[in-house]
Amino acid sequence: MVSFNIPVSTGKELDYLAQVIESRKLCGDGPLTKECSKWMEEKFGADKVLLTTSGTSALDMAFLLCDLTPEDEVILPSFTFSSTATAPLLANAQLVFTDIDPKTMNIDPDRIEQAITDKTKVILVMHYAGVACDMDRIMEIARKHNLIVVEDAAQGVMSSYKGKALGTIGDFGCYSFHETKNYSMGEGGAILINNPDYFERAEILREKGTDRSKFNRGQVDKYTWIDKGDSYLPSELNAAYLYPQLLMADEINNDRLDSWKYYYEKLKPLAEAGLIELGAIPEGAVHNAHMFYIKAKDIEERTELISYAKNHPEHPAQMVFHYIPLHSAPAGLKYGRFDGQDVYTTKESERLVRLPMYYGLSREEQDQVIANIMEFYGWKQN
Ligand SMILES: *Cc1c(COP(=O)(O)O)cnc(C)c1O
Repeated sequence: MVSFNIPVSTGKELDYLAQVIESRKLCGDGPLTKECSKWMEEKFGADKVLLTTSGTSALDMAFLLCDLTPEDEVILPSFTFSSTATAPLLANAQLVFTDIDPKTMNIDPDRIEQAITDKTKVILVMHYAGVACDMDRIMEIARKHNLIVVEDAAQGVMSSYKGKALGTIGDFGCYSFHETKNYSMGEGGAILINNPDYFERAEILREKGTDRSKFNRGQVDKYTWIDKGDSYLPSELNAAYLYPQLLMADEINNDRLDSWKYYYEKLKPLAEAGLIELGAIPEGAVHNAHMFYIKAKDIEERTELISYAKNHPEHPAQMVFHYIPLHSAPAGLKYGRFDGQDVYTTKESERLVRLPMYYGLSREEQDQVIANIMEFYGWKQN
């Protein structure tokens, strides 16, 4: 069976983990945590990057920093992972879901504009599959209406938009290093803080409401409780697992991109014949091959394709789908509303199938996946 995902490993993790264990300093913000942050700040041109315990906690932290009231509205896509919605929900804000652009499955800027009211405070975008949203339009809308922009770039580590790393364009960017993502520390993430107004408060909120970060730098002689807060620091052990992957981030990225291009070239004829659809990479977006997806005709055809691939007697392969649109999920019905008409979110989400994609995926394995799709559609390979 060709697996859908195999978490990335470089073979150097044990050396770094041993280093941490021998140091007897396992708590957060140790030397390797700092190396990870520094590496990202330099590589992505980010002003400030802090490692967090997950992509979800990076989003939670961003919304604590937004300082919202229960009247404030947050505009976000419905086609996304639950964490995109739970962060503004925990901040007690109103969730306003909008429709997507079917070509990229990203939030549609026109629909954002339509959803803006005098209560809107934040635009929360999600870069689906590591492919950038239309950030020029979105930042222009945000400036015009004086809104904060949060980027859920959980899938977008190493992707960019017009030369800027995803996560560095809005006020806050949130990365995930969950083991299903391109770079993994098991569970973990990072928040990118791009607006200097938030630097100091970010450190305080992350350190249980104290100024311990300043204390550690010798800037104050004792640390005290001064604000709201939580604990968003991952253990140094998690950072030790991530760091060697960052050191070979380009190699991992190129390997994934090669696999992505191989799928694309082999499946393009089926798309040209109108049997399936492939995702678009808009101009200005450089993606990280987080995902390769195709679209079947409808939900019935998708179900049959996934089952066909899974049960193939010679070359079974694991294909998966997501997301159940948040506005139609039990919590979405309870806590959010959809602005305007759901033209694409539900319809397109029901057609989407993700193919196996991970660092180290072989061409032979890809050929098996491709053969399943071609056989299913009765396509003769030449
Ligand atoms: C993975 C993911 C998250 C959550 O990241 P965790 O590290 O698992 O908490 C949030 N948003 C999106 C779009 C994701 O894909």
